[in-house]
Amino acid sequence: MKRTLGQIAEMIGVELPNQAFRDVIVEGASINTRTLKENNLFIPFKGEKVDGHTFVKQAFEQGAAATLWQEGVENPPLDVPLLLVKDPELALQEMARVYRSQSSFKVVAITGSNGKTTTKDMVAGVLSTQFLVQKTEGNFNNELGLPLTLINVEEETEVAVLEMGMSGFREIAFLTELASPDIAVITNIGESHMQYLGSREGIARAKFEITEGLSEHGILFYYGDEPLLKELVEKSTGFCSASYGYEQTNGLFPKEVEVTENGSKVLLTADRDQFIEVPVLGRHNVLNALAAVRVGLHLGMTLSGIAQGFRSMKLTSMRMERVNGAKGEIIINDAYNASPTSMKAVIKFAEDMPVEGRKILLLGDILELGPNEEAFHREIGKEIHPTKIDYVLTFGERAHLIAEEASEHFPKGRVQSFGLEKAELINMLKGLTTANDLIVVKGSRGMKLEEVVEALQINV
Ligand code: ATP
Ligand code: MG
Repeated sequence: MKRTLGQIAEMIGVELPNQAFRDVIVEGASINTRTLKENNLFIPFKGEKVDGHTFVKQAFEQGAAATLWQEGVENPPLDVPLLLVKDPELALQEMARVYRSQSSFKVVAITGSNGKTTTKDMVAGVLSTQFLVQKTEGNFNNELGLPLTLINVEEETEVAVLEMGMSGFREIAFLTELASPDIAVITNIGESHMQYLGSREGIARAKFEITEGLSEHGILFYYGDEPLLKELVEKSTGFCSASYGYEQTNGLFPKEVEVTENGSKVLLTADRDQFIEVPVLGRHNVLNALAAVRVGLHLGMTLSGIAQGFRSMKLTSMRMERVNGAKGEIIINDAYNASPTSMKAVIKFAEDMPVEGRKILLLGDILELGPNEEAFHREIGKEIHPTKIDYVLTFGERAHLIAEEASEHFPKGRVQSFGLEKAELINMLKGLTTANDLIVVKGSRGMKLEEVVEALQINV
């Protein structure tokens, strides 16, 4: 976004305190001086611990062109380009909304319980071979991250790919109305945030809110193997939609899937038959790739152009990332986050993967599951196949329930549970593993299991 301070004042409906600064050019915005860029608008927030207003001076030293200032905060520096606002967060959101309504770039918005970031990265990777693309950085998917991402979309950008996250009803509705997507994607329905949404039906409805903000000729692409999504699509009117998934009833499905060393090779049919090489492991990532293919085809790309996009993409780390252990173990680092659905997907992946050595699962707690958390963890433990997995190690008090269930049907000594001290777990693992063993690491973000992965990469 490139606007004068006068224009920004108009966008958010406030007066410019000092007309001398009316023509100051502002480009994009930042809420953090560490990531602030030249000519940004600085947006200070009053947090619980720190007050962003104390960084305003520093923001200007680092090249900010102007700043917002919350009314009531003492000593506004009126000798610099500044706008007084009642609430900086609301101002940020309003600015993003108005900027979006004034812009011509296309917006692809992605939600779902799992796979948002991966799908977002795949969509952006595919599209960037033919379009000027910008995407949500990392996981900036909430009521602050999304408007901030929008404001930083440059004027010449052709497609913005945005991730939308939520933990309760009406949150996605808010984000989609702000971003007015041309294309919406729902990757799946899992069990995360059950504590706020009550049931999987509730989660599905909350995700489906993404359709409320679709632009006039907007389209929804959704994971069609999920009955809850199919049902919601059947009941709704006023927008186009198309599905993808493994089942052949979907508009787009893989005719063949071959598991390769670093991902999957998938045969698809659209304008012609074409193999696509998905550069990340796991059956669920084939689905994320299908979503990206859908979006690419919709925006006029050919399957061969899309295949080229997959060849050149770089995906964010810690999602099914394959790394080598110090002894030559194969470690699959999926420690970025976990839900019951995604943990089951990863276990299935480990069970199916052909390896020379043994297969070891390291599973940590899945957080934020609400009152049914015990049942979710136990169910996972019950489903692990003792003929396909050699060792189950768990970390944390909830994951302990996985171990409890698994030990019911695993040979003695093959299941072990660890408390909240990682040193013991790391020592045990280092004693256990040898070259060519497969170690799959998965747990919620709060469990920080990447620390174990790092330890296994060091030879001491
Ligand atoms: P967050 O809510 O933390 O932003 P996200 O929705 O962005 O998560 P990703 O970061 O892309 O999801 O992936 C997180 C994990 O979810 C992956 O490591 C993988 O195990 C699992 N996952 C990814 N895609 C899918 C999918 N389509 N279906 C089920 N599980 C998936
Ligand atoms: Mg994410």
